[in-house]
Amino acid sequence: MLQEEKYKTGNEDISSCPNESVRRAFQVAVIGGGLAGLSLSILLSKAGYKTILFEKEKYPFHKVCGEYISMESWNFITSLGLNLSELNLPIIQKLMVSSPGGDFIKANLDLGGFGISRYFLDNKLRDIAIKNGVKVFEETKVTEVIFNEEMFSLKYNGGEMNAAIAAGSFGKRSNLDIKWKRDFIKQKNNKLNNYIGVKYHIKTEFPADTIALHNFKNGYCGISKVENDEYCLCYLTTAENLKKNHNSIKEMEKNILYKNPFLKEIFSASEFLFKEPVTISQISFDKKTQIENHILMLGDAAGMITPLCGNGMSMAFHSAGIAFGNIDLFLKGNIGRKEMEKRYCGEWEKQFAKRFRNGRIIQGFFGKEKLTNLFIRAIKPFPFVIDRMIKGTHGEEF
Ligand SMILES: Cc1cc2nc3c(=O)[nH]c(=O)nc-3n(C[C@H](O)[C@H](O)[C@H](O)COP(=O)(O)OP(=O)(O)OC[C@H]3O[C@@H](n4cnc5c(N)ncnc54)[C@H](O)[C@@H]3O)c2cc1C
Repeated sequence: MLQEEKYKTGNEDISSCPNESVRRAFQVAVIGGGLAGLSLSILLSKAGYKTILFEKEKYPFHKVCGEYISMESWNFITSLGLNLSELNLPIIQKLMVSSPGGDFIKANLDLGGFGISRYFLDNKLRDIAIKNGVKVFEETKVTEVIFNEEMFSLKYNGGEMNAAIAAGSFGKRSNLDIKWKRDFIKQKNNKLNNYIGVKYHIKTEFPADTIALHNFKNGYCGISKVENDEYCLCYLTTAENLKKNHNSIKEMEKNILYKNPFLKEIFSASEFLFKEPVTISQISFDKKTQIENHILMLGDAAGMITPLCGNGMSMAFHSAGIAFGNIDLFLKGNIGRKEMEKRYCGEWEKQFAKRFRNGRIIQGFFGKEKLTNLFIRAIKPFPFVIDRMIKGTHGEEF
């Protein structure tokens, strides 16, 4: 039997019974419906593969993210079926970086980016996935994945199913990472892990074509425009910073972030649109593996670049493109599973390894109060240095 035929089984529509115990074969099961998972499932369904996607939350929902997407993803997102040109999104071509003391530099962004909220973007991509035939199970958490006799068996709240391929696009840190005891979970606290992220949407006065990165002690805060005349205000800092401020976000902001005069102004003079900020903890930039027990890892689940580099979302999209190419070859019977995994890892490494290395070096500079003050002062007369640093963490259009 051809590999293609072997995996083309089970045509029943199970979308109406997500909470019953069902056992059906899909060609691909995608675990996690963020940008990596949604874009992979759209590519697969467009190519005619029977695809199921599990997302533990209900769309639309907010996520901690700076919501600035590098232009390298524009064509890819459009090719998925989302016409970005129609959305009148802010196009961002300028960068401002300030030190904790308030010194600052400005630079033009060579490639630049655009602003769009995750609330809006992920929901739109979910609609496109469904339109293309992906079975999207929302509010459905995958709790176990077992590989046996060339098939994956997945358990989720309320049921189980089989698939020929499983893709892990469950983001920075999930229940499955803990269950599988992945290496980054076992790491002791170090300077590449144990960060927290905080996000607000605000109304404020700020140029629509600019993204600013304001540094403070042990962290940095980005601000840039998204759709609907709103701005995304999002910061990353150490869990230690929060602990020292009695685990109070407000207290930490007042005691630490406000020392940067730009942040004090933004926090004091803007209208905050959420009752409470969206937050995440235990963020790790430690190395991860790209295959776990034959599951292809995508996006943040394969490795998380520091937000300072501003292109984690593009890397999530790009990893979906690489995974799709190899899954397609496998399901057509052109390559075996071992070859698919090897090729995926090789292409992932070629595309992203250098960016990760540069991202970790740059991350090391920031957050240290004195060093950042000194750094900003030192490179002020040489804005091209910033340009070189940005290029070192970004890729080409794909
Ligand atoms: C503070 C901060 C600021 C950032 N700013 C930017 C920026 O400005 N620009 C940029 O390009 N990148 C930025 N990033 C990075 C960017 O947010 C990520 O790289 C990107 O979201 C990765 O997408 P993903 O699809 O891999 O994961 P996610 O978008 O996190 O999606 C993973 C999904 O999996 C779901 N899930 C998890 N476990 C399960 C399970 N067991 N079953 C079912 N579903 C599950 C989750 O609910 C989630 O929806 C930032 C990150 C942080 C922390």
